[in-house]
Amino acid sequence: MPNKAVFFDRDGIVNHRKINDYIKTIEEFHFIPAFFETFKIAKSNGYLAFLVTNQQGIGKGLYSITDLAIIHNYMQDKLLKQTGFKFDDIAFCPSLHEVNDFRRKPNPGMLLEFIEKYDLDIDKCWMIGDSESDILAAENAEIKSILIRDSFNRCNPTLRFDSLEKLNKVFSQILSI
Ligand SMILES: [Mg+2]
Repeated sequence: MPNKAVFFDRDGIVNHRKINDYIKTIEEFHFIPAFFETFKIAKSNGYLAFLVTNQQGIGKGLYSITDLAIIHNYMQDKLLKQTGFKFDDIAFCPSLHEVNDFRRKPNPGMLLEFIEKYDLDIDKCWMIGDSESDILAAENAEIKSILIRDSFNRCNPTLRFDSLEKLNKVFSQILSI
């Protein structure tokens, strides 16, 4: 039976983003408190949870793949303690924006890899992100999307909420459709 999944962007969804900067160490990684609930709702409704994150700071030489692995190990440990679950898999793209890597959002490469690897039903997959590139990546992978953002932007998500708290109130219902 094909699986269902929620794809999560990282910076701005899992953890607070740094404006014009990158998360290079555990000390700079601060969870967005409402995310724990969002994550728990996805997992307890039987969805696989995947992290798909652009990390061009690696391509810029600001931190290494090992530094990123340390941050993600910390994130997984904390998630498991707080929610009883952790991400089923993690994908990152270290390429620079200019390279136009097929794996780098808004391109769908990272999503398509998981759709194939886990035999996902694309009609039962959601991407949650805070950027236009997340919504376009979802569109390009032909899955549904939820934009978390309070300001104007040009993209066309399936659903839009101005905070994770607001999504959390109805997320279970959304996932049961
Ligand atoms: Mg983001």
